[in-house]
Amino acid sequence: MKVFTTKKDLQHYLQQCRNSGKTIGFVPTLGALHAGHLSLIEQARQKNDEIVCSIFVNPTQFNDPKDLEKYPRTIEADTALLEQAGCDILFNPPVNEIYDDNEQWHLDIGEPEFLLEGKFRPGHYQGVTHVVYILFDIVKPDFAFFGQKDYQQFMIISHMVEQLHIPVKLVMCPIMREPSGLAMSSRNVHLTADDRKHALILSKTLNWVKDHFDRNKTGQLQNEAEQMINAEKDVELDYFEIVDGDTLHPADENSKKIVALVAAKVGKTRLIDNVILDHSS
Ligand code: AMP
Repeated sequence: MKVFTTKKDLQHYLQQCRNSGKTIGFVPTLGALHAGHLSLIEQARQKNDEIVCSIFVNPTQFNDPKDLEKYPRTIEADTALLEQAGCDILFNPPVNEIYDDNEQWHLDIGEPEFLLEGKFRPGHYQGVTHVVYILFDIVKPDFAFFGQKDYQQFMIISHMVEQLHIPVKLVMCPIMREPSGLAMSSRNVHLTADDRKHALILSKTLNWVKDHFDRNKTGQLQNEAEQMINAEKDVELDYFEIVDGDTLHPADENSKKIVALVAAKVGKTRLIDNVILDHSS
């Protein structure tokens, strides 16, 4: 696997790949890799000749400086995992390779910027769209792979790609879970043994809602789900919402796609998860 830390070197190498007719698949990450990230690399492998994974802990998407400081950084283990997974290129730039001092960014994301995660993490999606825009501009991938785990992020990046006419195809990959049902996340390393037990209420409740799903009872299901999570010790619910997967507004009879999304603090660690309840097209 080739490792680049400057955009100039990466771009030079990728241009050679393109010149020899190779397609480029891209997996952007914050590092602290786990099997969820590796499933994205695997999907990218199936569709592309050269796979680029970026590891960049993007400061502009963290609204809480303490969260940024304690975000896990495990570059040596990550490099070994990417090698094993058959990744071709790792891009691991320092902050000043990505941002100029006077760089400004504002994307008109519309309402989704302020709903769900946006409500609890002000500015998060401006930071996410900015870094993804810059990374797409550097890598110029044919395909880019993102997890359903960050459902709202996928939706907002899809809108950006359409709005700015970025020539990339986006692929949404399923959520990888631990055998217990807990969605894999880099933040899971912060969970204590007790937290891990309490955190199971999130995937359990999502599954319960999926099993009892009825388009005409989404309000009632949402209330019951909130109660189930609120009853769990050491879990502080930010939101549990059943929404239209295209607008993130409460689901209604016209919704083509319906998604239940949850965010909660378990002990000191904030976790998110979701499940697609209905997808009729
Ligand atoms: P992150 O490093 O957390 O920004 O994640 C990088 C990419 O991996 C994003 O597209 C995430 O949605 C995806 N991802 C994170 N966790 C999982 C998971 N458990 N299963 C599948 N994809 C995931």
